[in-house]
Amino acid sequence: MLEKTLSIIKPDGVSRNLVGSVITRVEAAGLKILAMKMIHMTQEQAKGFYKVHEGKPFYESVTGFMSSGACVVMVLQGEDGIQRYRTLMGATDHKKADPGTIRHDFATDIEKNVVHGSDSPANAEYEINYFFNALEMVNE
Ligand code: ATP
Ligand code: MG
Repeated sequence: MLEKTLSIIKPDGVSRNLVGSVITRVEAAGLKILAMKMIHMTQEQAKGFYKVHEGKPFYESVTGFMSSGACVVMVLQGEDGIQRYRTLMGATDHKKADPGTIRHDFATDIEKNVVHGSDSPANAEYEINYFFNALEMVNE
């Protein structure tokens, strides 16, 4: 099924000049970029984005990290796009990620793990609408 997913290149990825490397892998995997922009979130905005994690021990820290610098947010589309992008990213903990995945190859920390990808169709819809309106996204 053709699916949209929300991708973020996190502040560690942007500050370490990994934007091009991540986008190269996205395009090489055949995922299409439907929308893209740079943002620098406040912690309140990051908390809204990571609302599903409210109450978890890492919630304050991860939302502090996500608001610590600029991010690149993108809407990606492809067949089975949500899972395919998750596979490209690798496990949350880079030490457990498969070789060749973005997190295995670039991440330094379980929190500073370079990229985000939606984990379900419902979360993808929430996350895409959190950052983009219809005018900011191509329809292809
Ligand atoms: P993401 O939602 O960013 O794509 P994920 O789905 O692989 O990552 P989640 O469980 O949704 O992982 O966690 C969201 C983010 O919170 C992680 O990517 C990471 O930055 C941070 N995080 C998750 N678990 C921990 C932890 N145990 N300690 C510190 N940070 C964590
Ligand atoms: Mg997640």
